[in-house]
Amino acid sequence: MNSKECVGTSGAKRTSYFDNAATCPIRPQALEVMNDVLLHCDGNPSSPHSIGRQAKEVLEESRQMLADCLGVDAEEVYFTSGATESNNLAIRGVCAARASHPGAIITSALEHASVTKSIRGMKREGWDVEYIEAPGGLLNLDQLERALAKPVTLVSVMSVQNEVGYRFPVDQVARMAREMADGALVHTDGVQAFGKIPLRPRRLDVDLLTVSSHKIGGPKGVGALYVRNGVNLFSNALGGGQERGLRSGTEAVYAIAGFAKAAQLAIQEQAAAYQHAKSLKTQLCGMLLEKVPSAIVNSREDGSPFMVSVTIPGMSNKRAVDYLSQRGIYVSKASACSENHTTVPEGTWRPKHPQSLSAAGIPQAHINSTLRISFSLQNTVGDIGELVNALCAFLAAE
Ligand code: PMP
Repeated sequence: MNSKECVGTSGAKRTSYFDNAATCPIRPQALEVMNDVLLHCDGNPSSPHSIGRQAKEVLEESRQMLADCLGVDAEEVYFTSGATESNNLAIRGVCAARASHPGAIITSALEHASVTKSIRGMKREGWDVEYIEAPGGLLNLDQLERALAKPVTLVSVMSVQNEVGYRFPVDQVARMAREMADGALVHTDGVQAFGKIPLRPRRLDVDLLTVSSHKIGGPKGVGALYVRNGVNLFSNALGGGQERGLRSGTEAVYAIAGFAKAAQLAIQEQAAAYQHAKSLKTQLCGMLLEKVPSAIVNSREDGSPFMVSVTIPGMSNKRAVDYLSQRGIYVSKASACSENHTTVPEGTWRPKHPQSLSAAGIPQAHINSTLRISFSLQNTVGDIGELVNALCAFLAAE
């Protein structure tokens, strides 16, 4: 496709873009910083000459900016190619470093594929795994308590679920792990929370935390892993020893700088964005339930205000997404990552990812009738009206 034909998340119809949980428009200030770094500071940060040192300076300034956003020390921030890599590194890195530790891995049944599949890989290598259920979005803390009574190596529970927006009590999970499972490490995938709801590793008392750039207006292909000082991880990416040996590969300094700028802006506007999303969520649920009484809102009121999962029984979500897209309104069926089911050569081991929507208690018959609508500060109440009207027109035409 000719790029001039692309509308893109930042394009003319941006205000009807309701797929912000998949990715969101690049912030102009982040783009400006990236341009500047690419044009004037494109050395290799590991080079010992002045051009390399300039790039290194940008890299370390960016690390400090992100650390400030998280309330942690700069040396606790490791840049990666995105949250997928951060989650893989956290889980595989902990298990590799504690291979002689006999304890189980505890996780929720609703994690992103990058967590679930990493953990399935560890299970295949012989690790015990316990999936904590969360029917209706409530993490089963009794089950967690029972699981923590046995030896545990790692607990990984996400902050905000990416398809329904459930918020999990990560602080409580960490507290229970500290009290009951001496020496267990606690990780949270904070991708859908960072820059949206307060997310401070020290306050949560987690050892590892994953964040991504493109969910907050930074570029794609960059993320970070917070690793608490003193926590020992083994690397998945071996080579030149960048990122203090934890993630080899020349750092994408321009993307990292764009990420840091986006993070700084997201944190500055976090409180306003939260209130705005809350009012959009209330408006959407109210309008939808009034105009389509059969609609079922799967998201919880106390969940993230940035997304709404809604089922309209009998509706084809695929056709609804197509219909709306043709009219410049962009929503999602569920998580964009759940779309990638390609054929792999016979004999390839590929862990399966259970459907989070089913794990959330959404009946199988409703899965293909479910839409995810996710907000940013760019969306307006007027856009919500336009979306609901278009959805009603679609249902009438079906
Ligand atoms: N975790 C969660 C909760 C997510 O929503 C996503 C993005 N869909 C990821 C991890 C993966 O992020 P990235 O695209 O940066 O690899």
